[in-house]
Amino acid sequence: MASPESSIVWLRDDLRIEDNPALSRAAGLGLPLTVVYILDEESEGLRPLGGAARWWLHHSLVSLSAALTEAGSALILRRGPAAQVLRSLAEETGARHVLWNRRYGGPERAVDAGVKDWAAENGIEAASFQANLLFEPWTVTTGSGGPYKVFTPFWRACTSSGEPRHPHERPDSLPAPARAGSKKHAMSEDLADWSLLPGSPDWSGGLADTWEPGEPGAHHRLEDFLDGPVLEYGTGRDVPGVEGTSRLSPHLRFGEISPFTVWHELRRRFPRQESADVGIFRSELGWREFCWQLLYVNPQLATRNYRPEFDRFEWQPLTRGELASWQQGHTGYPLVDAGMRQLWQTGWMHNRVRMAAASFLVKNLLADWRLGEAWFWDTLVDADAASNPANWQWVAGSGADASPYFRIFNPVTQSKKFDAEGRYLREFIPELAHLDLRSIHEPWKLPDTNGYPAPVVGLPESRERALATYRKLKDTLGVPAPD
Ligand code: FAD
Repeated sequence: MASPESSIVWLRDDLRIEDNPALSRAAGLGLPLTVVYILDEESEGLRPLGGAARWWLHHSLVSLSAALTEAGSALILRRGPAAQVLRSLAEETGARHVLWNRRYGGPERAVDAGVKDWAAENGIEAASFQANLLFEPWTVTTGSGGPYKVFTPFWRACTSSGEPRHPHERPDSLPAPARAGSKKHAMSEDLADWSLLPGSPDWSGGLADTWEPGEPGAHHRLEDFLDGPVLEYGTGRDVPGVEGTSRLSPHLRFGEISPFTVWHELRRRFPRQESADVGIFRSELGWREFCWQLLYVNPQLATRNYRPEFDRFEWQPLTRGELASWQQGHTGYPLVDAGMRQLWQTGWMHNRVRMAAASFLVKNLLADWRLGEAWFWDTLVDADAASNPANWQWVAGSGADASPYFRIFNPVTQSKKFDAEGRYLREFIPELAHLDLRSIHEPWKLPDTNGYPAPVVGLPESRERALATYRKLKDTLGVPAPD
């Protein structure tokens, strides 16, 4: 028996119902609907998710599945090369419309283009929508039509191009699932079979204590942030010992909340003149957009230096002990170690500490930034294909609009300035919790450090070594450097 006409919504990094243009369009079509998430670990070039992101994805899919069921729909889970999976699903359900929200990585776009070609050849509508970026990369160009390489003019061009669209309303209900052949609805795989959660040892306890993956959790975070921290964001965002930032990053990463919703919720909350704090927060959303624009133009951002001069940079091989000391938070520098332990325990690290920990790896230890990028990719719940490599390259000096390479974060100065009361250090380094403020930032000056390690490298000499290595670039390749 031929299946009646139906539609498919293919969800990817947009695990939400509110402001989901593909879902809204499907609701408008009113045809039986298959909502599918495909775990694609086979299409060429796709980067496999890291461990923390897999944990997040599992819980986000559980949450989404419950919400879709409540709305009268269902979430179908399938695994395999996305183009192939979609073809079979369309055959099984008689789909005439395949709808999705756009993504911007190179290999992802190649997969999507393949699906569009197949759909066109088969008389199926394939429609894509803008959902996860406020300003799509190809719409923001310089006067000469090229991409921006510097953030400030990029963001100025974005914000002067008009207000981002309003979010789509959450549909009250969604069309019932399509029947697959004689079955009630297309068969879903079992999420447990995907083994997204860690086995033994299970390292995810701290993540579960910290986060609520899924659309409701994203909205709770936004509300909490708008109820308080946003009012002092300009200063609070730099203090790792307080919740001064939104912590929306993993929710934005998985598309559990749309940037349009965040943008317009700020407008709703602050209808009159916006404070400088709100403007700074908006520009952080802008950095996310900038990173995606960089990835769109440079699909190999995670593997290649954005500035090719850095191909000749003499990164030093690390010993296994040095790398492990950084990964595990045993470098002997409290701010770096607190950050790396926060990352391991909660899957997230405060931005200021990310900068200090990354600078320590690529400058004081002189390790190739790709080593750090890979570790963050595996351990961050917000590990993002654009923001992670763009920020690593920013710290290393090899990126766009990068921190000048002679800017070497001093972890002690940073710690004294931004964690003056040692709250952050005490939270993540229990061995140091008893120390007073004179010692906690520089424990190596004490005769007994309660088992806390001595510094893996001295600050003045490692700084000198980094500067000397960078100067060679200047001498051989003309990269500007301090005298
Ligand atoms: P808020 O301060 O509340 O900012 C709001 C949102 O703006 C964030 O959720 C994020 O989406 C965006 N944002 C803020 N800062 C940046 C930035 N520098 N670059 C891009 N977007 C930004 N962010 C990621 O989302 N994923 C990553 O994989 C990632 N890796 C990073 C690696 C390094 C070495 C560094 C230095 C930064 C990295 N960042 C990454 C950027 C930043 O640290 C996080 O976005 C931020 O800490 C998330 O916390 P929040 O949501 O509380 O941020």
